[in-house]
This record gives sequence, C-alpha cells and structure tokens, in this order.
Amino acid sequence: MKYFAGIDVGSTAIKVAVVDEEGGIAGVHVTPSGSLFHKNSTDALNTLLTKLSLKREDVRYLIATGYGRKLFKEADDSISEITANAIGAFEAGKAFGGVRTIINIGGQDSKAIQIDNTGNVVNFAMNDKCAAGTGRFLDVAARNLDLDLEDLGDYHFQGSEAPLNINSTCTVFAESEIIGLLAKGHGKAEIIAGIHYSIASRTVRLAKRVGIEDRVYFDGGPALNKGLVAAIQDELGRELVIPEHPQTTTAFGAAMLARSEFMAEQSLENA
Ligand code: ADP
Repeated sequence: MKYFAGIDVGSTAIKVAVVDEEGGIAGVHVTPSGSLFHKNSTDALNTLLTKLSLKREDVRYLIATGYGRKLFKEADDSISEITANAIGAFEAGKAFGGVRTIINIGGQDSKAIQIDNTGNVVNFAMNDKCAAGTGRFLDVAARNLDLDLEDLGDYHFQGSEAPLNINSTCTVFAESEIIGLLAKGHGKAEIIAGIHYSIASRTVRLAKRVGIEDRVYFDGGPALNKGLVAAIQDELGRELVIPEHPQTTTAFGAAMLARSEFMAEQSLENA
C-alpha cells in the first residue's frame, strides 16, 4: 500500500494527515507549533508514522501547507492553505452532499472561501490583521476566565441570562472588558456566549463578502467548540457542516493533492 501525507504548519498548531491509495484517511495528528516550527513539524510527522506503523519511505509524496510551510523543506511540494483547505473541504464535504462555502477559523486568522461544484476556488476573503474573531481570542478568553479551552463550548449553553455584549473590537481591549464584566459579578457562561457571538458576527460578515452558498463547511481548531458552532449557525441562519476532524481539513487537503499529483506523475511515466 502506498501512502501520501499533508502537513499543515499552522501559526498555532501543526496538523499532519496521511491518506492511503484510495484516499481514505489512515490517520491524523495535531500538536502545538511552539517556536521550533521545523523540529516540531518533523516530530509531528514521525509521531503519526510511528502510530500508523509506517516508515518514512511508505509515504510516496508529501505536501506542506500553512503559515510555516516554507520551513518544511523536505516536502515534495508546497501549496497555499486556501488551496489545501478548499481541496480538503471539497473531499470531506462529499459525505454531506457537497459544500460550496468554507469558513475557517485558525489560531491567528480567519477566512471564507467559496468553491464551485468541482472544488475550484472562485472567491475568498481573509482576516489576518486582527486577532479578534480568531482562535487567539478564545485562547485569551479561556485564560482570563481561568478555564480550559475545551470547556468553553459547554459553558456557552449554561447561562441563565442572555449572552453579554462584548463590544471591544480588539483582543487586548476585550481582555480588559472580560475582566471588567467578571468584576461586576457577571457569570462566566454569559461572558463566554457573548464572546462566541462576537466571533460569530465577524465571521459571518467575512463569509458574506465572498457570498454564502449551501452547504457551509466550518473547519479549523475553533470548529471543535460547540458553543461557537451554535453562535455561528444562529448568526448565519443555517446549519453548518462540521467534519469529523475539523482541525485537520487543510492537512487532509494537502495529503489528497499529494496523492493525485503522485498518481498523475505515475500515469505520465507509464504512458
Ligand atoms: P492554525 O492553523 O492557525 O494553527 P488551528 O486551525 O490549528 O489554527 O486552530 C487553532 C485554534 O484552535 C486555537 O487557537 C484554539 O483556540 C482552537 N482549538 C484547538 N483545540 C480546541 C478544542 N479542543 N476546543 C476548542 N478550540 C480548540
């Protein structure tokens, strides 16, 4: 069996996906990016290969993507995260009847991508200037509220009052706003729901810039947060498609491209 890998060297997390000849997911792995992008990417790949009992040479083609992709020089090729995300969402979205709009929230940026019914990118918009509306906002909020990031989703649904308005348009000011709300005696659940709605309204504005067509796929690490998912669905007025592994969609897309590039080269050699 031949295998193909995609490695998404993100600003916050490194994601690795390995697919087999049929395009089935053999495994995925997520680890913090840290400060040593190259070392941590190599370790992440080796960890997944060991888990899958594969050797490096079993991986016939590897494509790097993401913010730090140029640092992973051992890759056979590299592509932008927009292209990799589109391929990953297009492939994973087939099980849901096909997707046309992708919302991705990462650790330091957020994007909306529109694809056609063959998976080609027709339009995209990106926010990489401001941490509000990104995973960083959630990381900061969890720290201020003395909670684990993974718990924010459950808290969202536990408020006895309406979500609070978080008005600050900047993460640094939002941090003081959160502390101010806590000092006034507001509950964590109402603050968290307010944070989720604040991210959701920014995200929906971004998605509207590219045009929203069904079905809408949501990926990136923050898609693991069910409260944020509910807030975006509410603001959007439609259901979101959430894949089984939302954080590794872009790595999966790179792995699927690695597979098709390898197959195309093989058929040229055999022609
Ligand atoms: P990037 O590609 O920019 O590194 P990711 O798509 O990996 O970004 O997303 C990273 C973000 O995902 C983190 O900043 C964090 O807010 C969020 N995240 C990661 N794991 C979880 C989790 N289990 N629950 C909720 N949010 C999460």
